[in-house]
This record gives sequence, C-alpha cells and structure tokens, in this order.
Amino acid sequence: MGTIVTYLTYLLERFVFNVDKADFVQYPFFMKPEDLDIHLDEIQQSAVTRLIQKLEDGRYKKNKNNCLCGNNDNCMDKLVSCIDMHGIPLDVLLCRKCGLLRAAEIFDVASNENYYRFEYRDIHNSGGRSASSYFNDQLERGESFLKIARENRIIDEVATVLEIGCGSGGILYPFHLAGKKVAGFDYDENYVGYGRGKGMALHCMGKDPSVKAEPYDLLILSHVMEHFLDPRSELLQLIEQVKPGKYVIIEVPGVFAEVPAKVLYGYPVRYFQVAHVVQFFYRDFLNLFYASLGLEILYGDENATFLLRKPHDWTPPAVVADYSSKLSGYRSLVDRHLRECYSDYRYRPDLYKLKNMGIRLLELIGLKRVVKGFLKKRGLL
Ligand SMILES: [Zn+2]
Repeated sequence: MGTIVTYLTYLLERFVFNVDKADFVQYPFFMKPEDLDIHLDEIQQSAVTRLIQKLEDGRYKKNKNNCLCGNNDNCMDKLVSCIDMHGIPLDVLLCRKCGLLRAAEIFDVASNENYYRFEYRDIHNSGGRSASSYFNDQLERGESFLKIARENRIIDEVATVLEIGCGSGGILYPFHLAGKKVAGFDYDENYVGYGRGKGMALHCMGKDPSVKAEPYDLLILSHVMEHFLDPRSELLQLIEQVKPGKYVIIEVPGVFAEVPAKVLYGYPVRYFQVAHVVQFFYRDFLNLFYASLGLEILYGDENATFLLRKPHDWTPPAVVADYSSKLSGYRSLVDRHLRECYSDYRYRPDLYKLKNMGIRLLELIGLKRVVKGFLKKRGLL
C-alpha cells in the first residue's frame, strides 16, 4: 500500500506540479539493505554475513581512497550510497571535481587478497555459476571487441592475444576462432579448465607459469581495472606485457553506458560494488587518464570500451597527472544522470513490479478473482 501511495505522489508531483524527476530524489539513495530489493541465495547470504563480520571485527582493514583525477580533498564529495548492491556497507562518493564515482574506502592489500579468496566468488556467482554459462555470457563481449579491432583495422597486426581476468575464456574464444594465438589468466581453476577444453591456453594465476613469458600484440582487460587498488600503477605494469607499437582493449563500467542500462534495471545506481575501487567511469575521463599513461587512443565510447596503442617509444610516465580541472563540467552531468536514473528505478516500476502492483491493486478493490477468472476463460493464464 505504501508503495502505491508513494508512486501516486510521485505521479502527482511530476505531472501535475511539473517537478523535475531529478529534483524529486536526494542523496544518499540507499542507506540500508531494505532500501534495495535484494534477493540473495544461501551461499551469497552466508558470504555477505562473513564479510560484514570480518569488516566489523577488524580482520579486514580499509584505507581511504582518493579520486583518480588527482583530487585529494574529499570533504566536499557527495555521499551517493551507504551500501553496495548486495547490502554490504560501502560509502560511494561522487567526486566534487571530476564526477567520478568511487568507494570512499578500499581494502588494504592483505584484506583484498583474502576477500577475493574467501568471499568474492560466493557473492558474485550466485551459488556457483557454471563455467559454460559464464563462457556463453562473455562470447558477445568478445565478438564486440573483435569487431572494434576489425573496424579500426588493427586485427591483421595482431597474432597473439593476452587476457587478464579471462574467466572461462568467452571473450578470447572469438579471437581464437579468428586464428589468433590466445592466452588467458584467472584465479578460478574450474573456469580456466573449461576454456582449456575449448583449445585455448588458459592458466591459473599464481599456479601456472608466469604471465611474463613474452610480450603480446593485444592485451585485453575486461571489467578488471575497476578492481585495481591502485589503477594507475597496476595498469602501467600490465602495459609492459604489450609489444611496442601494439594494442590494448580495456572495458570498465561506464556511468553513461547504454548497453547495460537496457538489460540491468536500475543501472547504474543499483550496481555499486564493494569490489570496485572506482565504481563508474565515463569517456572523457578515460581519454585523459589513458593519455596521461602515454597511450594513444584509437577508439573510445561511453560504454567505457577503449582501444589503445602503446607507442614504439613508450616509457612509464613518472609524473602523476592531475586533470580534474579539465573535467569540472562533469560533476553536474553525472549528478543529474544519477538522480534521473535513481528516480526511474525508484518510481518507474519494471514489468515484474508492475504486475505485482496490479495484482495488489486488484486485491485492494476486490476484483482480483473476477479478473483472474476472466483471463483464465480466455486462456491468458
Ligand atoms: Zn575526481
């Protein structure tokens, strides 16, 4: 009943009093798990409880996380959410200078390793997602990366491909079928084993021979960089694995991305993650960031997918760039986008919710049985 009243109030404010939908909501969007419709299975719930316990009793430690734009003064940053998508305590900040969304605090190195070892997979795999289903989900992304490489006419210059965080190899597989020599690294033995069964050289990180065997023509990092505790230095180390004059494809979560917004209800505000150091990026930020690492940008979009070239004379830049002043307009753009997305998420029900609301409304006015009988007669139920 409360939901219906809230929704009717929203409609009244929006369409009778012409209140802008972005102005109808305020930060922080999510204060406690009940503010999100969270459905966790037993394995997920147990891992979330374990993680919260370890955070509370100090077994997992966190450090302050400054913005990647160079802004060290976070006293004016906006607190957007106090929990992540699974209800785990996480303060998400909107940078007052560049509009990047980041975790206010991140695990220290030891806690981070243990978190990925003991909780991450249970929380994110929904009770053991199969290697084959993950492989199939990733195939489309692999196809899109191959398309970008073809459209930018670099594919013939690529003979070897390396992916860090390859899962079961769904992204690498289209490159494998295109005749490229592919190699991938991940932590999960089952996933890696599945990809090996498809004929690809996938390795278990930390167990199999080191990744540093030889430089590659193309390095792929798909939804990996947002997990780096120190994105700049970790990325610079990985670029060493690329041959001079050759290529890198990186994809991270994009705050303005259209592809995930079509399939993920409530994207991006519903999808903050304790595992993400930077929660969401945008194209112009990444243009400056990658350029500051000495990389040449061949392609980039708001899905935060980039194709980069490592120049022949590349050396790791010694100076950490501060480019927040070049991005000052983005804070208000991201702010408005977030409030609009949250407003849609909160007040524009998805189809599942709409159906349930309809049923509840019919119940309230006593017509549920009549309508049900009518639909049954016509074979619609
Ligand atoms: Zn910033």
